[in-house]
Amino acid sequence: MTDFIRVDAHVHLYRSIEEGYAEKTGYEVWEYGEQAEVHQTDCVGTLDELLVQMEATGISKAVIVNLFSAKVNRQLAIDALPSGLTETQKRQRLGDIDARIIDELIAFNRWNCDIARKHPGLVPFIAADVNAFESSVCAQHVRDMVEDHGAAGVKLHGAFQGFDMSDERLWPVYDTCQELALPIIAHSGPDRDRSGFAEPRAFANMLKAFPHLRMVVAHLGGATWKQTVEIAQTFPNTFFDCCEIIEWTRSTHGPTDKQLAQMIIDIGPERVMMGSDFPWYDLDHSIERVFSLPLLSQEQKERIIGANAVDILGL
Ligand SMILES: [Zn+2]
Repeated sequence: MTDFIRVDAHVHLYRSIEEGYAEKTGYEVWEYGEQAEVHQTDCVGTLDELLVQMEATGISKAVIVNLFSAKVNRQLAIDALPSGLTETQKRQRLGDIDARIIDELIAFNRWNCDIARKHPGLVPFIAADVNAFESSVCAQHVRDMVEDHGAAGVKLHGAFQGFDMSDERLWPVYDTCQELALPIIAHSGPDRDRSGFAEPRAFANMLKAFPHLRMVVAHLGGATWKQTVEIAQTFPNTFFDCCEIIEWTRSTHGPTDKQLAQMIIDIGPERVMMGSDFPWYDLDHSIERVFSLPLLSQEQKERIIGANAVDILGL
């Protein structure tokens, strides 16, 4: 077998063991229902853990798609406010919280770009959040991070960040990404309060409005995967990664291996990339899972494991 390029198109990294542990235990993968044998990893998402796994698997590039939610951070800060504040005090504290969240988001994105400068195998996708910044400021932040810090893409998570993927507050960000030929990787799947913010069909309006924007709908739609083929066939500017869902086949709401492979064929295997969603799953296991799928050829699988990401994300 000739060797082939390997890329992990979906990785999360944390700044410390403590942060990784807290984030990982606080983010439950609930949407697929029951599956008795889901692969687990002990990793918490530190840089050292990732570098060891990249070395061991021959993965030369890993796309870092860290999550930041102003909405979640704001709620935690509000819950921690002392009781008995006057209205004026409360307003002032809320203003302080919002200012701090903006500082945190900027520092969070800079950290991602900084480690990527030291480790050329890392590809930094920064978090954009219109619940932290006003729309046009958010777009300007994206531009600054690309031009001054080497950001290579944008990560969105509508369900966790609390906005619809076609929320028009995102239009300036999409416009900037389209202009800079900057790909976006966006979580897809249901959310607990059934708002549908990140389901594949929530992408339709933005895909229509930004036909030259390369949008990666992550997890092939997750537990709302039955909407995915229609979106893929309607909008040629959609691409996909197969992480998470590939670990949850045979679950209550996930596809079978055969349904997953058939979905990839219906979309076009050249539009699908492998990701691990590390530190939820391991890089070697993600490669094994792609190779274990039925219906797809050896060459199609090898391209999903690397070459497709090079083409789609412009690596
Ligand atoms: Zn993820």
